[in-house]
Amino acid sequence: MDLILRNANVWKYKGLTDIGIENGKFKKIKKEISEKGEEEIDLKGKLVTPPLVEIHVHMDAVLTVGEPRFNMTGTLLEGIEIWSERKKKLTREDVKERVIEAVKWQLANGVTRIRTHVDVCDPSFTALKAILEVKKEFDGLVEIQTVAFPQEGIYSYPDGDELVRKAMEEGADVVGGIPHYEWTREDGVRDVIFAVELGKELNKLIDLHIDETDDEHSRFVEVLAAETIKNKYFGKVTASHTTAMHSYNNAYAFKLLGWIKRARLNMVTNPLDNSILQGRFDTYPKRRGHTRVKEMDSMGINVCIADDSIMDPWYPLGVGDPLQAAFVFVHYGQMSGYNEMMSLFDMITENPAKTFGCGDKYGIKEGNPADLVVYNAPTEIDALRTVAPRLYVVKDGKIVVESKPTERTIYIDGKKESVEFIK
Ligand SMILES: [Zn+2]
Repeated sequence: MDLILRNANVWKYKGLTDIGIENGKFKKIKKEISEKGEEEIDLKGKLVTPPLVEIHVHMDAVLTVGEPRFNMTGTLLEGIEIWSERKKKLTREDVKERVIEAVKWQLANGVTRIRTHVDVCDPSFTALKAILEVKKEFDGLVEIQTVAFPQEGIYSYPDGDELVRKAMEEGADVVGGIPHYEWTREDGVRDVIFAVELGKELNKLIDLHIDETDDEHSRFVEVLAAETIKNKYFGKVTASHTTAMHSYNNAYAFKLLGWIKRARLNMVTNPLDNSILQGRFDTYPKRRGHTRVKEMDSMGINVCIADDSIMDPWYPLGVGDPLQAAFVFVHYGQMSGYNEMMSLFDMITENPAKTFGCGDKYGIKEGNPADLVVYNAPTEIDALRTVAPRLYVVKDGKIVVESKPTERTIYIDGKKESVEFIK
């Protein structure tokens, strides 16, 4: 065998396991593999999961924080003002350079699939064309999906509908929308109908920014669910952000959850951005800006956690790591129950893989492409608690990321001790 990883704590497997890889595929996964590998690594009980999937990020804006100025209020509105200034200076080289850097960060964190929304309210499609070039450059290593995202509206921006259609012709993979941002409720409904019809016509996936507001009257997810059911487009439609669901009355929310399940919508929550952007018009108490993850997860709805931003005018921090977003969501989503913490790993791996359309070739099992991530932590909880660095990322049987654990030494009465933050 080409590579054997020994003594791995493989996510969802019981006990330590050996992983044998040959010709880019998982050949054998069992307690003890007797044969020798060309290369062998003893993982000494470290956690191994399938690769992470970044299912919602805006790569066109990454690494622009502070350009031309920092967001002083930290609000969405000031972020939009700053972005509209920065956007005027976008060039192909500028976008490519930033996106390539950010993709490398994501890969180092174990991300091998990225769905990026790209603002297509730009008749020259500068950002989209640049990202499509980056997509080609990373082919075979990181798979990039682009969403034709009408940041300024399909009906509130001149020829917004034509721009989305043209962006799809240009090579975008997923149809986007932004109903809550349209000028009127009626235009918002048209926005959803347009996106579902276009997605169906082109046989493409659909992913809308939807109800990303604290306004409890923003109710476009119900339209999206209804259109998905009417068009029988089950499983191919994603609702991103949906923060207004936090503010709905319970009677309405529970009715809506039933429609979401029936439509098999994929749901995406963005803890990093929405924990700082939502509740800004509240005095006290201040609302949390997250959709109803616990309830949806317990109903079997496919819920995903994603980053949204990496150092942009809306969110100044971030390293392109869905595990970091999951860590934040333990707190903001009160997901600290044991099973809840474990379910967060589904929300950054298998669930977004399903949303992405990976099919059954995704996951650690014999015969599948040998893609995995090794964490510098023995368990899921330790990985989450320490936002553990990724020691290895393996893609099609090849090690594509390797990192060395940090060594910390403390001196007590002149005696050297090492500290690992592991019990
Ligand atoms: Zn977003």
